Amino acid sequence: MKFKVDEDLCIGCGVCESEADEVFEMQDDAKAHVIKDPVPADMEDDAISAEEACPVDAITHE
Ligand code: SF4
Repeated sequence: MKFKVDEDLCIGCGVCESEADEVFEMQDDAKAHVIKDPVPADMEDDAISAEEACPVDAITHE
């Protein structure tokens, strides 16, 4: 499963990193970045939790 962060929407709140720190990382631009591509099966549940928790719906997956 592949996840994406829309950097135009991301407000840099860090919630996704809290939910799935092996998949999402806050970087110097104060935006979240996907650091596992594709996301391994055993991390998908956490990544989906992060997607659902994002307050601005900046995270999507395919
Ligand atoms: S939860 Fe959403 S808005 Fe917050 S840092 Fe992650 S992608 Fe950005």
